[in-house]
Amino acid sequence: MEIKRVANKGVLRKCNLEGFNFQIDPYFGCEHLCEYCYGLNRARFDWEKQVLIYEDLVKELSRELDVFPPQTIYIGMNCDPYQPAEKKFEQTRETLLLLSGKGFSASLLTKGVLATRDIELLKKIPDASIGTSLAFLEEGTRRLFEKNSPPNIERMEMLGEMKNAGIETYTLICPVMPFITEVPGLIELAAPYSDTIWVYPLKFESTKDPNWQKVSKILEKNFPDLVEKFTTIVFSENHYYWDDLREELEKINKEIKANIRMEF
Ligand code: SF4
Repeated sequence: MEIKRVANKGVLRKCNLEGFNFQIDPYFGCEHLCEYCYGLNRARFDWEKQVLIYEDLVKELSRELDVFPPQTIYIGMNCDPYQPAEKKFEQTRETLLLLSGKGFSASLLTKGVLATRDIELLKKIPDASIGTSLAFLEEGTRRLFEKNSPPNIERMEMLGEMKNAGIETYTLICPVMPFITEVPGLIELAAPYSDTIWVYPLKFESTKDPNWQKVSKILEKNFPDLVEKFTTIVFSENHYYWDDLREELEKINKEIKANIRMEF
């Protein structure tokens, strides 16, 4: 993977997630290369070959932040802030240090276990939170879609260390792939380590999405019997598959009180 430095043309971006005004992606691109990655649809270069890092990240970001009151910034919408490049380039750590110094807080999403390096820093940032995502219970299936990311168990160990340190944690069960993602099993795995569990379905805007094309190739090769019904569900406005899943998860939520939030 080539790591290329580029000019910083504004790294503080508007965030559409509820509860956040702004997001920061300390990298542009992601070495984890998950086949379903939504960020791929926004890429203007070849993610398979390059990750971009920003020149003068801290200087420019500092200038951008100065016009806003302190608040919590979301980190990790379009890249993984603890992808392997972070070990050497420390763009995420520098971002956290800057935010903390200016009285801002951060909520991070990562599959990268390198996050534990920053536990002491996160402990000092009021209201900081960190989450990870899970989509496949079975390791062989996980590797088909997420071959470069750490296994589930390592993500849970990272989250457990954060929770033990008093940092708020969450897990996204995301993306839920019909008939493949074992949502109840993943909730059982994540519940001990997570203050909140969010469940998000797999979504694509159209069959032309590059990440749908990648996912459908994997389905055709490994789950040929599922392709038709999977495609119908993913591209339906409403499908009873989601109603049935919602009902099942509501029951689980009552039983184990896992603070499950369903985004479908
Ligand atoms: S870790 Fe996240 S940002 Fe990176 S490729 Fe996977 S889904 Fe995309």
